[in-house]
Amino acid sequence: MEPAENNTRSLNFIETIIEEDLQNNKNNGEVHFRFPPEPNGYLHIGHAKSICLNFGLAEKYNGLCNLRFDDTNPTKEETEYVDSIKEDIRWLGFQWENELFASNYFDQLYTWAVQLIKQGKAYVDEQSQEEISRQKGVPTRPGTESPYRNRPVEENLLLFEKMRNGEVPDGSMVLRAKIDMSSPNMHLRDPIMYRVLHAEHHRTGNKWSIYPMYDFAHGQSDYIEGITHSLCTLEFEIHRPLYDWFLDQLAEEGRPRPRQIEFARLNLSYTVMSKRKLLKLVEENLVTGWDDPRMPTISGLRRRGYTPESIREFADRIGIAKRDNVIDVGLLEFSVREHLNKITPRVFGVLNPVKVIITNYPEGKEEMLTLINNPEDDAAGTRQVPFSRELYIEQDDFMEEPPRKFFRLGPGREVRLKGAYIIKCEDYKKDENGQITEIYCTYDPETKSGSGVQRKVKGTLHWVSVQHALNAEVRLYDRLFLDEDPAGHKDRDFKEFLNPDSLKVLQNCMLEPSLKDAKQGDKVQFQRLGYFCVDKESSPEHLIFNRTVPLRDSWKRK
Ligand code: ATP
Ligand code: MG
Repeated sequence: MEPAENNTRSLNFIETIIEEDLQNNKNNGEVHFRFPPEPNGYLHIGHAKSICLNFGLAEKYNGLCNLRFDDTNPTKEETEYVDSIKEDIRWLGFQWENELFASNYFDQLYTWAVQLIKQGKAYVDEQSQEEISRQKGVPTRPGTESPYRNRPVEENLLLFEKMRNGEVPDGSMVLRAKIDMSSPNMHLRDPIMYRVLHAEHHRTGNKWSIYPMYDFAHGQSDYIEGITHSLCTLEFEIHRPLYDWFLDQLAEEGRPRPRQIEFARLNLSYTVMSKRKLLKLVEENLVTGWDDPRMPTISGLRRRGYTPESIREFADRIGIAKRDNVIDVGLLEFSVREHLNKITPRVFGVLNPVKVIITNYPEGKEEMLTLINNPEDDAAGTRQVPFSRELYIEQDDFMEEPPRKFFRLGPGREVRLKGAYIIKCEDYKKDENGQITEIYCTYDPETKSGSGVQRKVKGTLHWVSVQHALNAEVRLYDRLFLDEDPAGHKDRDFKEFLNPDSLKVLQNCMLEPSLKDAKQGDKVQFQRLGYFCVDKESSPEHLIFNRTVPLRDSWKRK
């Protein structure tokens, strides 16, 4: 299957806008984007959509894309998050033009706030948060004006200065824009521009005791950076008149003005997509960390074995829409499966081993069999896999009393060992619990793979030579939640829907010896089982593999 071709699919609505702007030579034909994460958590797959969109458009239209940390909320932000965000964007394969911080603009924003006060367009309100919200009222009826709304400019300047100098306690005053207390758009009812917060900021330290609100910071940051198209998710549509109002007051004639365009956020089934909720899972040790392979974070997906290509392909497949929807997580799994099928070497790994003894194979003999690494990729070549008298196969691949449709091994039955010989089960041994401990087979030396002997057998099994096997731990992951929309239930906490069986750890799995030097992040297909990658906790003494996805989508609603 050909990769989805960017240039043959029709334009999405944002591309249509951009191409119109380019045709009209708007902004001198320049396009400038930004990805603006708040550094209050690790990025998730929803952010990946926004990253692919912004950086992808910059690539497509020869524009630029900045990385701007929206760090106006000092109590929730940390440098650890800044570093992880940069790592994730680079890993996805994008490079930003400038690394910027909204906090770089605190001085400029302050100057603009003073300008608005001087123009009579902003005032200091000393009422409580509750009082202010109460006066805002409801959209269908005009709100109530604050008693401080018309205080003299001089008084506002003085009080704002006090706020800035840290002379007033948290929550005692705010700076508000003086817009329209009867607007049907609640965001225009004298929105708060600044709040007092005596908190240390990860970059500006204790310099500020006031911090700008998102609405006062975002559009102006876009404007300062010369962003032409400011892409955000739909919930900000209602903020757009305010975004434009501030720029109407502050933007200079002749300088490019950013335009805010909203698109549908990515919602994915069977998971949650909010940093706040993901942080809860981390804090309450319900997962092992932000990069737990079950997390929908970029770092979690990376550790799980996802490739950047598969995530970019996924983002391309889901496209850009104007209406919110939910994407089936199966589509994400499909994308990674498709990519791993092309790039991963095939290897033998037996997860639940049982011993097969080939009674007519000479003791002490071993031979090296040549196996194809990847039928999808000739350049991947071949490898040598040792074969000997004692082998492991999967417990599942043997049944004492197999039903008719069971095409694997059973008493008196024949199967092919992949890349090796046809074997026939002659006998088997059980322990006192009824557990099969050894299976005795004979092999037919004439049936060596590639020898041209044609003999039909119903099944082909993977195997690992006992004396050459590597012992490994294998971690099997299932969906983190049992519900399609765990955060969508009114009176129930999303954590109630956690899947108690989302992680299954298998010890003493047996792998072929070619995996001896496997390094963190290496990806393989365990034949017949799925795609796996080496976990970061793996070491040569204790190999650990994560299952990225099974070969086929076998998930059933529980
Ligand atoms: P969260 O609620 O998960 O914290 P957020 O929107 O507050 O998300 P930001 O760090 O502010 O997170 O987001 C950075 C950018 O990523 C924004 O432009 C935002 O619109 C975009 N974004 C966030 N979540 C999604 C999503 N699920 N789908 C698409 N874009 C998203
Ligand atoms: Mg946010």
